Amino acid sequence: MIRVSVNGYGTIGRRVADAVAAQPDMTLVGVAKMKPDYRAKIALEKGYEVYSGDEKSRLAFHDAGTESSGTARDLVSDSDIVVDCTPEDVGAENKKLYEQLGKRAIFQGGEEDATAGMSFVAQCNYEKAKGRKFVRVVSCNSTALCRVLNAVDEEFGISKARVVIARRAADPDEVGKGPIDAVVLDPITVPSHHGPDVNTVLPNFPVISMALKIPTTHMHLHSLIVSLKSGATYEKVEQKFSNTPRVMLVNGKKDGFKSTANIIDMAREMGRPRNDVYESIVWRDSIKVLDDELYFFMAVHQEAIVVPENVDAIRAMFGEDTRQESMAMTNKSLGIMR
Ligand code: NAD
Repeated sequence: MIRVSVNGYGTIGRRVADAVAAQPDMTLVGVAKMKPDYRAKIALEKGYEVYSGDEKSRLAFHDAGTESSGTARDLVSDSDIVVDCTPEDVGAENKKLYEQLGKRAIFQGGEEDATAGMSFVAQCNYEKAKGRKFVRVVSCNSTALCRVLNAVDEEFGISKARVVIARRAADPDEVGKGPIDAVVLDPITVPSHHGPDVNTVLPNFPVISMALKIPTTHMHLHSLIVSLKSGATYEKVEQKFSNTPRVMLVNGKKDGFKSTANIIDMAREMGRPRNDVYESIVWRDSIKVLDDELYFFMAVHQEAIVVPENVDAIRAMFGEDTRQESMAMTNKSLGIMR
């Protein structure tokens, strides 16, 4: 059993903790967070050991009458590996502690590629993570893009990819973040950081991205245009995506998937925990090949898509399972069909 701890228990950390607890070959040692809020209380009710982020936070837990099991340092000391799910740039700070304690660590997309020295998406570069001390799971947008672009590149070769990303403004519980009635160019300049981030995993073709923030909390929506090296047809692309792990094709016209809200509603109807959609969702009706260019729409559930990647990264770093074995085990535990 791999002893795993989760440092940071917000949008991503809570999901990673539940996913780790569901693996037959992993033990969740505990989770660390800063505040003794309702999330801490529910974690305790679930039977998780809850640690405070630091000494100051341990006192806050004590004052609130919720005793923590120790600090993040104690938690990490007692684990084989820590999945760092703290906010952007905090992970890079925490790396010093992990190095000091000689522990392996996984960082999230808010950290730089250089913090871990390797950026990870299971179906693209699982083997590269074997035996590594540090790995970074790329952001939600990059994970989704890497899955589909890797598949297209395998089949047809890509000379250039372009994507416009309509980003959710905030996660559902982040009431302090906007916008409420605006579309924000984020950033105004081109490219956004997303294309270069995809290149940390798939370096062999340029990915040019533009991004804007829209007033929704559900999902991101990507509009892709991909220039291909060899002849593709709708049928061939549809076939390739049908066989690509963690890519789900949905029908707009036939099945009524007209918006990202329908995708989240599907997850609710499927009884997925927290309505989570782990797959990259591609609209079958949007796939179009014109000359040597492929067009399609893709939806990305920012809260969930990186969860299976974190689980696979843990196995990859301990080097005991093949990519196929790990992905199959992770998929089964999370109810991902393929
Ligand atoms: P979040 O703000 O929802 O949660 C962060 C958690 O870390 C909170 O529980 C906070 O209390 C805790 N924390 C803060 N400082 C800490 C410290 N020093 N020690 C221990 N805990 C600490 O953040 P999130 O959205 O889950 O993002 C985490 C990481 O995942 C970031 O790198 C982010 O870029 C990445 N990511 C986020 C999303 C998303 O859509 N939310 C998607 C993919 C990747």
